Amino acid sequence: MNNVLLLPSLQRFSVGKILCLGQNYAAHAKEMGSPGAELPVIFLKPSTAIIQNGADILIPPFSNNVHHEVELTLLIGAEGKNIPESNAFDYIAGYGIGLDMTMRDLQLEAKKKGNPWAVAKGFDTSAPLSDFVEKVSDPHALEMSLSVNGERRQHSSTAAMILTIPQIIAYVSANFTLERGDVIFTGTPEGVAQVHRGDIIDAAIAGVGTLHHRVWQ
Ligand code: MG
Repeated sequence: MNNVLLLPSLQRFSVGKILCLGQNYAAHAKEMGSPGAELPVIFLKPSTAIIQNGADILIPPFSNNVHHEVELTLLIGAEGKNIPESNAFDYIAGYGIGLDMTMRDLQLEAKKKGNPWAVAKGFDTSAPLSDFVEKVSDPHALEMSLSVNGERRQHSSTAAMILTIPQIIAYVSANFTLERGDVIFTGTPEGVAQVHRGDIIDAAIAGVGTLHHRVWQ
């Protein structure tokens, strides 16, 4: 179990499950060779995958290709099931920035074999998470970026999401009961790429937060 902080109220939330959307940005789906036009896939990470801003991201010894994915994250504030889009924002306690670190080699192997992504997506340190903020100006117009060693690799806006935030809450809660402390990763834009030992990752979502991590193993 891991805790996250909500600002400015300083409430602490114990994170239950981490629900993630795969391919919720068309340009990223394309770079992954996916046809698109399907509902984004849902996968989970364990809460033990969370690290706080500044902690090292550890590449597991059984992967040779770990990728960064910068994502807007949602902190759930109340329990709900089959939440209608019209009420979705009532269930969101805050907004954060997260990295969906991915062992791409293991994920591609799992895709080929029809196996789940649990290992490829849920390893320890695979979910760096910022503090959450209660209010943002417009969650569908947030500039997001990620650089490695000062070189920009991802730069987009939450405006490019395929499912909007209310649609995400409705879709995810149709499949899983949401509880206080759950976190949703809303998908990454294009530009995902490999990181190596010693790399420094800096990521930001305007008005939400920043992350700074060293990659190590
Ligand atoms: Mg992702």
